[in-house]
Amino acid sequence: MSDRHGETAFRVTVVGAGAAGTLVCAALLNEASADGLRVRVDLVDPSPDTGRGVAYRTPDPRHLLNVPAGRMSATDDADDFRRWLSAREGRAVGPGEYVPRARYGGYLADRLRSAASDAAPYGSLRRVHDRAEGVRPRDGAVRLSLRGGAVLESDAAVLAIGHLAPRTGWAPPALRASGRFVADPWWPGVPASIPGDRDVLLVGTGLTMCDMARSLVRPGRTVYAVSTHGLLPAAHAPAPAAPLAPCPPPEVRSLAALERLVMLRAARARRVCGDWRPALDALRPHTTALWQRLSAAEQREFLRTRLRWWEVHRHRMPPDTHAAVRGALGTGGLRVLRGALSAEDFRVTASGEVRVRLPAPYAGWTGPLGAVVNCTGTEGRVTEAADPLVRGLLAAGLARPGPHALGFDTAPDGRLLPAFPPPGPGDPAPLWTLGSLRRGNLWETTAIPEIRVQANRIATAVVALLASHRPAERQPTTPYLAQPV
Ligand SMILES: Cc1cc2nc3c(=O)[nH]c(=O)nc-3n(C[C@H](O)[C@H](O)[C@H](O)COP(=O)(O)OP(=O)(O)OC[C@H]3O[C@@H](n4cnc5c(N)ncnc54)[C@H](O)[C@@H]3O)c2cc1C
Repeated sequence: MSDRHGETAFRVTVVGAGAAGTLVCAALLNEASADGLRVRVDLVDPSPDTGRGVAYRTPDPRHLLNVPAGRMSATDDADDFRRWLSAREGRAVGPGEYVPRARYGGYLADRLRSAASDAAPYGSLRRVHDRAEGVRPRDGAVRLSLRGGAVLESDAAVLAIGHLAPRTGWAPPALRASGRFVADPWWPGVPASIPGDRDVLLVGTGLTMCDMARSLVRPGRTVYAVSTHGLLPAAHAPAPAAPLAPCPPPEVRSLAALERLVMLRAARARRVCGDWRPALDALRPHTTALWQRLSAAEQREFLRTRLRWWEVHRHRMPPDTHAAVRGALGTGGLRVLRGALSAEDFRVTASGEVRVRLPAPYAGWTGPLGAVVNCTGTEGRVTEAADPLVRGLLAAGLARPGPHALGFDTAPDGRLLPAFPPPGPGDPAPLWTLGSLRRGNLWETTAIPEIRVQANRIATAVVALLASHRPAERQPTTPYLAQPV
């Protein structure tokens, strides 16, 4: 079949079928069909699901979105997610509701199905259940090798591989080998697989810990949560204050000035509407610009000394989660402690039983634990990634680490910047990325409102590139771009 320009289909591979990959595929299919360009999209991910990824695969209905339903739409229509969910729940879901994350994965998969069916006959989608392990440039296109042995030739590829594996470096080898260590709390089947009659240690006290505590606290069990700072995330207000009027981008250029500005605005918001949160929320559209205006040294200083403060206030828990966590703290079912656990604080027996020496005020050994769950968060630095795809991209110079190695260095549209210029004339390999792999460049890049905008921008860039290679305009140096499917 050919498109309205008489071409055979271009091929685009999207690696990763979490929220970001799903949004990119939908945007690509929309854009290609609007342009009358014939494109086949391969969506590659070993997961049996599409749209869920790490965040939305939890089946526990107590694990809630930490962004209200009214801000989680996958389309330009802000009410799209709420309407979809209201139709399925048989009730009107409010824009300020924090709904179960499991519902959101189903919504994304549904929206992709609609985009694929609307894009026919120009766009088509194929779901490939495999893991991409390598990328090689080939005459301006790319070849992706999959773990199962297949090779996908693509005119462009988008790496939507999301969160790198969680950091486990803090856990001593004996603990990791004990069978009681849960390296990834979002692995399917966790926390249901943890024996119900034993106490549990959660290492980390952020949003993941709060969700795990919700699943694990039960009568007769103590859940200990330890982090070096012992701070819990702030909560969203049960009845949010009215948003502040949009403010122009603040002109500050130093970390000290930025800190002063945030504190001033928070104090003013507290005076005017009784709540500091609207001040932080009003800064959100400008966070990337503010981050980019800081020097590299000041960004480093922020990461070293202000990161915790920012995360606690910016990534807040839903009111319902907050109430449950407070309740568990009140009954002693959950105990949050401040301290740095070292290898000597874990005692692992030959049979794999694990006990932990807790910091003050308990300052004693626990009984045998049902599990030690790693809630310290995912690795952000690509230079530390074990993933062969990430390592291969860096080793081949197809990508270079972004600022502070937080993800890859990217052009404004998300295209990977190579470590060195490609040999001979031509552009770098047609590879894009989005979401948390752009953190060093953008800082504010991990939540759906940002990912959706990035997905649309990538689709526009990819379709523009492919369209520029239609036969009439194709350059003699790039004959690879219109291979038949
Ligand atoms: C627990 C949790 C809760 C969150 N809650 C919210 C929320 O309520 N609202 C919000 O806006 N944001 C939330 N976020 C932020 C979240 O980052 C984004 O919303 C979004 O889910 C990120 O999706 P992603 O596709 O980039 O990454 P991921 O969800 O990590 O998906 C990446 C996918 O890529 C696949 N993959 C990785 N490597 C390969 C490979 N080599 N080959 C093939 N496939 C590969 C993985 O299997 C995975 O399915 C949450 C994040 C977490 C961790």
